[in-house]
Amino acid sequence: MFRINLKNDIHFSCASGDTLLDGAQKQSIVLDYSCKTGRCQSCKAKVVKGTSVAKMEETGLSAEEKSRGYILTCVRTPTSDLTLDVEDLSAYSLEKVKTVPSKIDFISKISSNVMELHLRIPPNASFNYLSGQYINIIKGDYKRSYSIANTSSASNLVFFIKNYEGGRFSHYLFNEAKVNDLLRIEGPIGTFFYRKTNKKNVVFLATGTGIAPVKALLEQMDENGSEFIDKNIYLFFGGRTEEDLFWKPDLKNIKVRFVPVLSRSHADWKGAKGHVQEAVLSEEIDLADSVLYACGSENMIKDSRELAIANGLSEDAFYSDAFISS
Ligand SMILES: Cc1cc2nc3c(=O)[nH]c(=O)nc-3n(C[C@H](O)[C@H](O)[C@H](O)COP(=O)(O)OP(=O)(O)OC[C@H]3O[C@@H](n4cnc5c(N)ncnc54)[C@H](O)[C@@H]3O)c2cc1C
Repeated sequence: MFRINLKNDIHFSCASGDTLLDGAQKQSIVLDYSCKTGRCQSCKAKVVKGTSVAKMEETGLSAEEKSRGYILTCVRTPTSDLTLDVEDLSAYSLEKVKTVPSKIDFISKISSNVMELHLRIPPNASFNYLSGQYINIIKGDYKRSYSIANTSSASNLVFFIKNYEGGRFSHYLFNEAKVNDLLRIEGPIGTFFYRKTNKKNVVFLATGTGIAPVKALLEQMDENGSEFIDKNIYLFFGGRTEEDLFWKPDLKNIKVRFVPVLSRSHADWKGAKGHVQEAVLSEEIDLADSVLYACGSENMIKDSRELAIANGLSEDAFYSDAFISS
């Protein structure tokens, strides 16, 4: 057993062979995570002291990040006591992951390649989650990850699901699925939820169906509106063409500066052009006084992290969920 020290004098013991993420979880310590396969960077941690080895390649880290002492806790096992520059999130009281049955309650195409899906969970399953988290939908012998697009105060779970060409679940959903089909879900998973902050600006970036958890976060903020009176809230939603921007904020209690961004706009498009991360810079937001939540493609997340940090965002003020393939 090795001793793993975190910020704020928190520590836990981790057996050699266990990943740091699993070791933490066994002792009810919660570290940031999402994909659990070394690809997405959500569990990135800076090693202050000690050694560890990767059980799987850390494809989510660049050579430069590795040389600066960063690791991904979802694939690393300790080979000595360790000190990591990360926080324990257990104060957010995350629910334990469980598997429950669900039935399709509603299914409808909202653009040529995005489906809105509602799943009904039996009330006695008491399935609770934090806005922004995701679940795995289990269908026969495979499972796929999808972010919940609504807040936990609703009775159904809502999803925005893209038709990934050649994808197994995509094929089922876009060709065969019907109301009352039975699907199991496993969750809630991940740590893409809102963190209280003293920073003035709360900036959301989403591409494509990456808007799903961002919508949930914004609607949760709207439910607790008075908490955000002093904040400047921004939403940059990017797609290729206008039909990709299938949702826009309609909120009562918080004010959101909404910036739709198209990468393949036609001549009449009056809004921002290019990529969401570039649009953030053109708004001249003081990134040193901001937190940034990004969800969508892996490339957008990598680029926006680098660009935002290079322009003043503090490294620990960037939260993301990368929609990588399952
Ligand atoms: C935490 C998390 C949350 C997610 N939430 C959502 C969500 O809310 N909505 C949503 O639409 N998607 C979401 N995704 C992405 C989704 O889980 C995957 O794209 C999934 O693999 C699609 O399943 P499929 O069976 O249709 O395709 P698969 O059978 O898994 O894939 C078949 C082929 O399609 C390609 N492919 C599949 N997914 C991707 C991808 N994301 N990027 C590039 N190529 C891909 C693969 O390369 C493969 O060749 C999320 C992923 C993660 C990790």
